[in-house]
Amino acid sequence: MKSNRLKLKHLIMGVAMAAFFFTSIGSLWSGYQMNVDSIKENTLETNRVYAQKLASTADAYLEEAFQILGYSASNISSKMNDGNALEQETDRLKMQNSMFNSVVITNADGRVLSISPPSIEIKGEVLTSVGAKEALTKKEPLISKPYEAITGRLIIFISYPIFSASNEYLGMVAGSLYLKEQNAFNNLLGEHYSHDGSYVYVVDEDGRVIYHQDPSRVNDMVTENKVVKAVISGENGAQLVENTKGIKMLAGYSAVSLAGWGVVSQRPLDVALAPSFDRVQDVAIKSIPLMLVSILIVLWAAARIASPLQQLATLTEESLDSKNVEGLKSVQGWYFEAYSLKSVLIRSLSFLHGQVLFFKDQSTTDPLTGVTNRRTMDAMLAEWQENKLPHAIIMLDLDHFKSVNDTYGHAVGDKVLQFLAKNMKAVAREGDVCCRYGGEEFVMLLPNTTAEEAASVAETLRKILANTISPCGRPVTLSAGVAVYPQMADSTEALFEAADGALYLAKQAGRNQVMVAGQDN
Ligand code: GH3
Ligand code: MG
Ligand code: MG
Repeated sequence: MKSNRLKLKHLIMGVAMAAFFFTSIGSLWSGYQMNVDSIKENTLETNRVYAQKLASTADAYLEEAFQILGYSASNISSKMNDGNALEQETDRLKMQNSMFNSVVITNADGRVLSISPPSIEIKGEVLTSVGAKEALTKKEPLISKPYEAITGRLIIFISYPIFSASNEYLGMVAGSLYLKEQNAFNNLLGEHYSHDGSYVYVVDEDGRVIYHQDPSRVNDMVTENKVVKAVISGENGAQLVENTKGIKMLAGYSAVSLAGWGVVSQRPLDVALAPSFDRVQDVAIKSIPLMLVSILIVLWAAARIASPLQQLATLTEESLDSKNVEGLKSVQGWYFEAYSLKSVLIRSLSFLHGQVLFFKDQSTTDPLTGVTNRRTMDAMLAEWQENKLPHAIIMLDLDHFKSVNDTYGHAVGDKVLQFLAKNMKAVAREGDVCCRYGGEEFVMLLPNTTAEEAASVAETLRKILANTISPCGRPVTLSAGVAVYPQMADSTEALFEAADGALYLAKQAGRNQVMVAGQDN
C-alpha cells in the first residue's frame, strides 16, 4: 500500500537520532561548562596565590628598605655636619643596594644635605613636596603617596627619621622610586610579565595605580574597580571583574600590609577559557567515528524493528487477495508486539477466509445434495456461451421417483437424491459441473464435449445407478437426454429444450436409458 505517511523505520530512526543528537550536545555542553567552571576556579586561585606572593615580595621590599634606611639613619646621626660623609652615605645607599632611584639626606627643615645621583641638582634646596613635608612633620618612617617631585617626576618617597643620641630630630634619610621609570619595585614585579594578556598592577591605598606594565596607566585612579575597592580595604581574594576596557578578567588580589597597597594579578577570561573550547572541539571531532557507528547501529536496529511490521502489512494485503495466510506465517515476529500481531492476523484472517469461502459455497451450491445450484448453473452457461465455449449438457430425471417417496417416505427420497448427486460427481470428469435443476431433475455441464462423449458419461452413470442399491434398499434408475452447443442449439433455452426433448423420448421409450437430441430412433 503506497502512502505518504511516515514509515515506522524512519520514525524510529528520527527519534533515535534526535535522542542521540540532544544527548551528545548536552554532554558536550555540560562537559564544557564543568571545564569552564574548573578553569575559572583554578585561574582565580592561581591569581590569588600569585597576587599574595607579589604582595609579600612588595612587603619584603619595603621592610628591607626601612631596615636599610634605618641602619643608615643611626649611622649618620653623628655625622650630620660632615658633608663628605653624608655624600658617601647617599652614594653608598644608591649604588650598593640599587633599591632606590635616588637617595637624599635632609636636615630637620627639609634642606637637602646630600643627594645621589648628584645630577639632580637640588642640594641646598628645601624639599617642599607633600611626601617630604609629611615625613618632616611626622618624624617617623614613612612611605609617601605617589606625587610629583620638584624634578617633575612621579615618585614614591620612602623616608626614615634621623635622631641624635639625645633623641633630637635631625632630619631624614629617604629613597625614592620613580614610578614611570625603571625602578627596583617594578623590576621585582615586571619579571612576571606574561604575553597572553595576563598582567599585574599595584595600587596605592587611594586606588591610584603605582605599578602597571603599561607605564601610561601609572597614576590613574581606578577606585571604580571592585577588586581595587576590596584590596585597598585590606582584603585578599579572587573574583571575576571587568577591567576599564570592559574586558572580563579573572583577578586575584592581595594587600601589601606595610604600605596599604594592593597587588592585582589578572588573566583575561577569554584567554583562560580558550583551551576549554578547543577541548570541546577536540572531543566532538574524536567522537565522530563513534557517532557514525552509532548511526549505523540505529539504522540497522530501526530496519530490524520495522521489518516484521512492514512485512505483516504487505502480506496481510496479499493474503486478502490470495485468501491464504501461508505468507504471513513466514514473518519473523522476533519481538513481542510483532509476534502477537502476527498470531492475531493469522487467526483472524484464517477465520475471515473460512467465512468467505463458506458463504460463497452457500450461495453457489444446493444445500441438500451439495452440487451447484441452478442460479450458478445459469450464470456459468451464460458465460460459456458468451465465450463461445462448445459444451454438452446431460439432463437427467429419476424414474418413478414419486413412488420412492410414496413407498419409503420423503426423507429416504432425499437420501436417494444425495446418492444420485454423489454418483454424478463420481462420473464427472475434470471441468464437468454437476447441477441440481429442480426437484429430482439434475443437469451435468460438460465443456468441450461431443454428444457421444456426453452420452457415454450419461450411460456410465445410468449403469451405475441401475446396478447399485440406493438408500431405499433397491437400485433406482434414471433417464437422460443429451444436447450439445452450438451444434444443436444457439441459446441456453434452446439447448435445454433439446435436452428435455431427448429426456422425454427416453421416458417414452421405457425409461432407464440415455437419448441424444436429434438422434431419436
Ligand atoms: P417419471 O418416471 O415419469 O419421472 O415419474 P416420477 O414419479 O418421477 O414423476 P415426476 O417426475 O412427476 O415426480 C417427481 C416427484 O419427485 C414428485 C416429488 O414428490 C418428488 N420430489 C421432487 N423434489 C423432491 C425432493 O426434494 N425430495 C423428495 N424426497 N422428493 C422430491
Ligand atoms: Mg421429474
Ligand atoms: Mg422422475
